[in-house]
Amino acid sequence: MSIWNRVEVTTRFSELPSAFYTLVQPQPLTTPHWVIWNEDLAAEFGLPPEPNQELLSTFSGQEVPDVCVPLAMKYAGHQFGMYNPDLGDGRGLLYGELRTLHGQYYDLHLKGAGLTPYSRMGDGRAVLRSSIREYLCSEAMAGLGIATTRALALVGSDTPVRRETMETGAMLARVAQTHIRFGHFEHFFYTNQMTELALLADTVIDWYYPQCRGAEAPYAQMFTHIVERTAHMIADWQAVGFAHGVMNTDNMSILGDTFDYGPFAFMEDYEPGFICNHSDYQGRYRFDQQPSIGLWNLTALARALSPLIEHSELERILSTYEKTMQRRYSVVMRSKLGLKHSHEQDSQLFDDLFQLMAANHTDYTRFLRQLSCIDIEGVQPILDLVIDREQAKNWVERYLVRCAQDDGGTTSDDELQRRCEFMRTKNPKYILRNYLAHIAIEKAEQGDYSDVETLAYLLAHPFEEHSGYEEYASLPPQWGKELEVSCSS
Ligand code: AMP
Ligand code: MG
Repeated sequence: MSIWNRVEVTTRFSELPSAFYTLVQPQPLTTPHWVIWNEDLAAEFGLPPEPNQELLSTFSGQEVPDVCVPLAMKYAGHQFGMYNPDLGDGRGLLYGELRTLHGQYYDLHLKGAGLTPYSRMGDGRAVLRSSIREYLCSEAMAGLGIATTRALALVGSDTPVRRETMETGAMLARVAQTHIRFGHFEHFFYTNQMTELALLADTVIDWYYPQCRGAEAPYAQMFTHIVERTAHMIADWQAVGFAHGVMNTDNMSILGDTFDYGPFAFMEDYEPGFICNHSDYQGRYRFDQQPSIGLWNLTALARALSPLIEHSELERILSTYEKTMQRRYSVVMRSKLGLKHSHEQDSQLFDDLFQLMAANHTDYTRFLRQLSCIDIEGVQPILDLVIDREQAKNWVERYLVRCAQDDGGTTSDDELQRRCEFMRTKNPKYILRNYLAHIAIEKAEQGDYSDVETLAYLLAHPFEEHSGYEEYASLPPQWGKELEVSCSS
């Protein structure tokens, strides 16, 4: 019996009117092979721990399971501020929704599955390099507890794909609560398909926000949730130092999941103006712009929802974004510093820390992790991360006074230890540094996937020590800081 008859799959998106999608069969990869199989995620759907031939033929596009109905979704979106009506799944197909053992549905999407009516000038393919980056980063974000799409499987092949150089094609099995983006709403709005716009909103409510169904104004309620989730997602990015790189409205999930990993990067040296996408010449999506771009994107969505929600309501809901984002950010940052109570001078303490790190080109992740190890390793290794040690010493002293205040006057050894143990669950030791991904990709391109496996494991458990793997937590070498990641994927 087929594996696909033993798990539960629905294809409800394919039951929507044809204006929502085009049915498309995948174009298989040649001589496919496994790169990595996400055993833990597979288990959630009742899929086997070891991938087999049948799964390989599914995830390389060779055979479509009887229970799936592959389709390319139609959407549009604002790319770098400009409206593009011609978007849609140009190289990925939605296969259906998989049910977890707990009864929740997740889209199964095969990225790199060949040409669709929305491929425009593209070839419908995804290369191994970018697919490894997406696999590792989505699992890293999940490990960090940040809302994200997931990666179930990655298949490599001999299929030649031209980018800046010749590369090979891959397919990534992406799993997400939804693949519906802001751009889905924009498409129906800008093409004046009002019945479909309302049906899309009703569908989103039925499937993902059923709590809005009984509300007085269900659409406004839905938009409120989208604003809140987007604000939370972006606050979480800022707190961990994640730069997305391509925050176009077609890459914004209506559930506030981090979506579509391209030229993303985790910030290393703390730098608010960090631009990870080397094709982003204007710096539209630079690190410190992400919160305001989140609002810009939500405003674009609001416009698309304007036939369904009163203008003043939309304005009111949008106006909650900044506070929600700030509140979440403060809560997360305070927890990263191990502070239980808020204090009016905290924002000064945070600002001075950021200023210290920016002036000294300090590695954001390492600094906070080292601060979380002050109970075991003391102050010196923290100071060693900063060029101006006096300035660092001064800040750490103020921080310890602030901690003592949090502890009611003085900090006992027990309290220090408890605080640090807690902080080590909030400040990751392992992040996906560009140079680590680069090394793993170079090996993978030679057929050695061991580093992909190792990184996938470490990043899924980024707060643990993993003795013996310290090199994966070390500072990047100079060449690793200078890597340029292009948009090509
Ligand atoms: P992205 O920048 O990856 O979010 O992609 C933007 C749009 O371009 C989406 O509609 C993609 O489906 C499409 N696209 C990206 N790469 C390709 C490709 N190689 N072939 C066809 N379509 C693509
Ligand atoms: Mg995209």
